[in-house]
Amino acid sequence: MQVIPPALEALIEQFSKLPGVGKKTAARMALNILRKPPNLAQNLGNALLQLHGSIQLCSNCFTFSETEPCAICSNPRRTRETVCVVEQSGDLLAIEKTGVFPGHYHVLHGALSPVDGVGPDEIKIRELVTRIRRKDITEVIIATSSTVPGEATASYITDVLETEKVKITRLACGIPMGMDIKYADKYTLAKAIEGRCDAL
Ligand SMILES: [Zn+2]
Repeated sequence: MQVIPPALEALIEQFSKLPGVGKKTAARMALNILRKPPNLAQNLGNALLQLHGSIQLCSNCFTFSETEPCAICSNPRRTRETVCVVEQSGDLLAIEKTGVFPGHYHVLHGALSPVDGVGPDEIKIRELVTRIRRKDITEVIIATSSTVPGEATASYITDVLETEKVKITRLACGIPMGMDIKYADKYTLAKAIEGRCDAL
């Protein structure tokens, strides 16, 4: 006997395919939508249908965009000589929120992870090299995560760009703001000591 109505079951199934959403959360989300007025489901459905139709990858930096090129790449006030390399568009948004980076980006859409079948051809590394050779880029800031795949990606990019005439920098790693150093783990503290900078 079918306990859950098929339409609800189908929605739970689709929600549970999203990252970080388990079956329980998916069921909660689906039931929540069901309890709200029908126009919420309608608006949600319309927004989902329009997603792929109106958003594409910027051909320059590969972030998701409704325009070609994206708003960042087409902004004349941004410094095109500096390119910040990130794993995902979400990382780009996080850096944009700081308001301190005036340059351009390059979104890799992943990080190297041979165990998961992600090699250099699966992410936008070749496109990065082509871009650096084609444009007047003087500095590449590698802003991949401090994870095993993120570090592997950073060192691969550093190797690949070694022969190019470009300065390569990496985001500083270390103690978070407001943290007492005696509570930092030894790896974070070691990174902070290695990446120390001049006290201004
Ligand atoms: Zn762009």
